[in-house]
Amino acid sequence: MKNLEELYKEMGISKEVFAYAMSIENGLKERFEKIQETTTYNQMKVLKAMQENQVSEACFAATTGYGYNDLGRDKLEDVYASVFHTEAALVRPQITCGTHALTIALAANTRPGDEILSPVGKPYDTLEEVIGIRPSKGSLAEYGITYAQVDLLENGEFDFDGIKAAINERTKLVTIQRSKGYQTRPTLSVERIGELIKFVKEIKPDVICMVDNCYGEFVETIEPSDVGADMVVGSLIKNPGGGLAPIGGYIAGRQDLIEMCAYRLTTPGLGKEVGATLGINGSLYQGLFLAPTVTASALKGAIFAANIYEKLGFHVVPNSTESRHDIIQAVTLKTPEGVIAFCEGIQAASPVDSHVVPEPWEMPGYDADVIMAAGAFVSGSSIELSADGPMKEPYAVYFQGGLTYEHARFGIMRSLQQMVNKGLVSLS
Ligand SMILES: *Cc1c(COP(=O)(O)O)cnc(C)c1O
Repeated sequence: MKNLEELYKEMGISKEVFAYAMSIENGLKERFEKIQETTTYNQMKVLKAMQENQVSEACFAATTGYGYNDLGRDKLEDVYASVFHTEAALVRPQITCGTHALTIALAANTRPGDEILSPVGKPYDTLEEVIGIRPSKGSLAEYGITYAQVDLLENGEFDFDGIKAAINERTKLVTIQRSKGYQTRPTLSVERIGELIKFVKEIKPDVICMVDNCYGEFVETIEPSDVGADMVVGSLIKNPGGGLAPIGGYIAGRQDLIEMCAYRLTTPGLGKEVGATLGINGSLYQGLFLAPTVTASALKGAIFAANIYEKLGFHVVPNSTESRHDIIQAVTLKTPEGVIAFCEGIQAASPVDSHVVPEPWEMPGYDADVIMAAGAFVSGSSIELSADGPMKEPYAVYFQGGLTYEHARFGIMRSLQQMVNKGLVSLS
């Protein structure tokens, strides 16, 4: 048998990069043990939810057509509600992505004249057109729903005075994005989200607090729905799909709000009653079952990346030692060449399409060209090892995913190798 270093060499990793990576990994044992504790807790939480709801083989049967009486679909929604400790959930393959899930949650629960407030700064890029921050056909703005925003303070804290001043009689829904998205602000911990919700509800008790939970699921032992969020929203091709869900989104929350969401997703009157699942229920259940361990792998990969790049002098968010609240790792590579080389390395490390070379392109919904690296089993899945970077200042790359830590680790080593090969980084 070849030793590991030789095998890595055949896979394009030089002796120097291998040695550097191993020295970094050696220092991460304690961090990884901490993650293991969270994973164990979350695995039991998911298992308990499945047992309590009596998931059975019949849940995996396919429905077609209208999809009336889809036992597996209805029970999966109960399982999600149990996991998130909410009254109800909407979990559907007809929800095409995270942006769609968020759009449903926002549009279903606002009416003309209402205002949406983001007290944590600009929301995720694709939501700009949904809300109408950037004009778009069919935006909420076109329906007379206005938007207000309060940025985080310079030091990353909430601007409580600004938030208090922004809440008015029209404020219907407060949207809180947990993850940093394409920004370099820190991700919010569930605890901080809880403080913010408490503050908002003290000012206006009936305001709906919605959390964009994308990339945050199972990173901590509690979710925003455990600290007062009325709705939590996310994508099944991120954390909660465990890499196996081929499509879908979820909204978990208060019964009345979820009913509104179902009426918006399908039609008034039909709501949750329709929506065939075409045989994918098994993957949605199994993916959820694996989600805690898959999320942990991605998290370990992110921590490994932070430590690799921080010690080489790059600005990384989160930094090498701070606590984690989502699986995204931002690395500011400072140059377009750096972003491209990093993404080339991630691509070259993939199990699928490793021979393809990624290039920046004009992606719908984004305001700058974006380069994306992904060789995923599920197209566009970002719980699988993937990286993307908008081609604009500060030239940061956002790295996430890894169904296994071993793969995430290799991807990061391969990215570093690409930077070294192109003369962008020197290890000596
Ligand atoms: C990914 C993401 C979204 C949008 O999800 P898509 O599935 O890409 O539409 C929204 N918000 C955050 C924070 C995200 O990470």
